[in-house]
Amino acid sequence: MVVVSFLLCSYVTPCYTNTFCPIILQINSPSDHLLSVQQIPDNFIQKTGRGFINIMVTIPVMTISSSDGPRPMPVIAMGTASDSGISGSDVMSSSTIVEAIKVGYRHFDTAAVYRTEKPLGEGISEALRLGLIKSRSELFITTKLWCASADRHLVLPAINQSLQNLGLEYVDLYLIHWPLKVIQDEFKLPVPKECVAAIDIKAVWEAMEECQNLGLTKSIGVSNFYPKLIQQILSFAKIPPAVNQFEMNPLWQQKKLTGFCKENSILVTAYSPLGAFGNNAWGHNRVMECDVLQDIAKSKGKTVAQISLRWLYEQGVSIAVKSYNTERMKQNLDIFDWSLTKEDMEKIDQIPQRRHVYLIGSMSVEPNDIMAEIDAELD
Ligand code: NAP
Repeated sequence: MVVVSFLLCSYVTPCYTNTFCPIILQINSPSDHLLSVQQIPDNFIQKTGRGFINIMVTIPVMTISSSDGPRPMPVIAMGTASDSGISGSDVMSSSTIVEAIKVGYRHFDTAAVYRTEKPLGEGISEALRLGLIKSRSELFITTKLWCASADRHLVLPAINQSLQNLGLEYVDLYLIHWPLKVIQDEFKLPVPKECVAAIDIKAVWEAMEECQNLGLTKSIGVSNFYPKLIQQILSFAKIPPAVNQFEMNPLWQQKKLTGFCKENSILVTAYSPLGAFGNNAWGHNRVMECDVLQDIAKSKGKTVAQISLRWLYEQGVSIAVKSYNTERMKQNLDIFDWSLTKEDMEKIDQIPQRRHVYLIGSMSVEPNDIMAEIDAELD
């Protein structure tokens, strides 16, 4: 039993209490990373002008190592990537972020390549103006270094550009998006074979460390990285990666990679927890249409999305889940006051496994050795 506390603001039925003390919840969790009550910082407690705390959703936090020591990272992030956003045809609006903050999200996952840094920043400014949050420090913002900037001398300009897009002085977490380099002035899919190059991981990681040392990010990490490459980083890193973000859901359970990350004290963030349902570029319907998950959802009066998210939470990982729809945003946060049974877990364990995100076929259509190696290592 790990004791966590909470506070973030609310949805459904706001409840007000005339005390400044956080409400303490006891949540069963397999994670070693959840904070104890004493570690909950004041800035995660939302106090209203009248001296009341506005409490509705309780989102557990994990402890992430940072330049300021251990810091809280809410276990659920709102994802901001969409196929239409990446292609530039229909990018998320800032009002979506305001809505997400209203329903309780405090962790946002963006990336230079998603084109959502700017509307995210505008949404944060609007939420501050509306008094939905009192200060930027109530939020946890993750963004990522795109492959076109995966070169020692391009990392600092890239994070500065992201900060400018976001209108922030620092991000909470900066990740290397993929372990490869792309030589393109303007991002275009598919990436031609001749534009794909190997990453010089030592040089790029040292530049990431510089970003943290300069205070431009509180923590640094990686995304879509595999054990061999992480071992390499660990062999020279002055600051080890705090997080590895990768595809994970009940249909691609990633037991080996999560085990490796845990052994090396690296937090995991699961992306595409619902199989990116409805996304034409990298989505599929196998999670949402999985019989096993549908049966469990029916028996519990929950949705398949909630079963998948709850399963991930019970694996002790954090989650980036995207919805631009207010009702689904709320639904995706409503996973903390119930649990899966041992039988449910055993049934989910038996689901045939199949990965979905491959570089060759999504980022590039032409076979090439660099992407083929990453694809093979991530299997
Ligand atoms: P996802 O979160 O698994 O699925 C998102 C899709 O599911 C959206 O189309 C959304 O539609 C729909 N949805 C959300 N909640 C739902 C619910 N309760 N019921 C039914 N449908 C629901 O996929 P994802 O966007 O690929 O992953 C989440 C985030 O992870 C991304 O947004 C991004 O921030 C990050 N990510 C990172 C990487 C990486 O390489 N590091 C790769 C992929 C994703 P509506 O919006 O209409 O609700």
